[in-house]
Amino acid sequence: MNRRTFLRNVSVASSALPIVSPALAAMSSPAKKLGVALVGLGRYAEYMAYQMKECQYCEFRGLVTGTPSKAESWSKEYNIPEKNRYNYQNFDQIKDNPDVDIVYVILPNAMHKEFTIRAAKAKKHVIVEKPMALNPAECVEMMNACRENGVQLAVGYRLHFEPYNLEMKRLGQEKVFGPVRIVETSLGYFSGQAGEWRLNKKLAGGGPLMNLGVYCIQAGRYITGEDPMAVTAQFGPVLRKALFSEVEESITWQMQFPSGAICTSTTTCAAGIDRLYASAEKGHFELSPAISYGPFKGRSTNGEMDFPQINQQAAQMDAISKLLLDNQPIPDHIGGLEGWKDMKVIEAVYKAARTQTKVSITY
Ligand code: NAD
Repeated sequence: MNRRTFLRNVSVASSALPIVSPALAAMSSPAKKLGVALVGLGRYAEYMAYQMKECQYCEFRGLVTGTPSKAESWSKEYNIPEKNRYNYQNFDQIKDNPDVDIVYVILPNAMHKEFTIRAAKAKKHVIVEKPMALNPAECVEMMNACRENGVQLAVGYRLHFEPYNLEMKRLGQEKVFGPVRIVETSLGYFSGQAGEWRLNKKLAGGGPLMNLGVYCIQAGRYITGEDPMAVTAQFGPVLRKALFSEVEESITWQMQFPSGAICTSTTTCAAGIDRLYASAEKGHFELSPAISYGPFKGRSTNGEMDFPQINQQAAQMDAISKLLLDNQPIPDHIGGLEGWKDMKVIEAVYKAARTQTKVSITY
């Protein structure tokens, strides 16, 4: 199945997401593509720029970097004119650039708030990478700035466009096997290099919980369709003390949902794990790999799942761009409110691990 067929399916699979109508998907080239400026030219931005080549509704048109040599080499590769190149200091001038409609913030977590607010003040729509910010208060500031400046805000939650995860969400939320009682989902990579920002508390806000655990929180939430009301948590052992002196190396936590469902997760830099398992009253469903870039594999009580492996980044960017082109609101499940809820859970998980108490969450 090709990506266009997939997009048609997604608009059916995710009723809250008016992605692409069949008529529009059938058009070979839309009249207008939105221009995207990437802020921060690191690893994920590199992947995003490459994957966006497949987009129908947007294109990579501007860049923001603190490294002049990157501005030069990326501009050559992606044909970015000089007038669409900015650094972190002159970024606000993007306000006067009609080539750019969307600013995509792909910087270390501590810089998400500043660049989201500056982009909003420049009257550009904003996509910000996960985790949305360092804490819930920052998320509120970001949402307010976007609202006050009449622009929309989305979080780069790519799995809301990925067919295997959409199926997990459908099986859970539509109670295909009855009410979900247990979710187990974990994400980890053997990772950590001296000097990288992810190990720096000030820049990252925390360890793998911020970077990877947010996906597990998301999965628990989109499978149950509920927001956790309380959490308990335990820090794991610190095996590489020199690297993990500021942020956790591993953490395990449990989320309790209003229906009685429980989600248990571990996120870690000490080993690889990438799985999502849900058990309902009359059956179970699971993915492994579940969260990375695939190829995804899944099965349920009914048998193996068979969905297309897609370009998640292009699907995300096309869906968001199409909404913006149609003057449609960004739906809550990929918007600022969703990022804020995840930050509330992250904050509670850290508090629970620190205090060794059960921490309630109010939204
Ligand atoms: P990276 O380290 O590869 O890139 C970070 C970029 O920020 C670099 O270009 C760096 O030059 C720039 N930068 C500016 N100021 C900096 C500073 N003070 N310290 C360090 N770098 C600075 O990181 P990345 O993996 O691209 O992650 C960036 C963001 O994207 C993070 O928020 C991360 O969580 C998110 N991310 C998302 C996914 C996904 O699948 N959605 C995957 C990877 C990363």
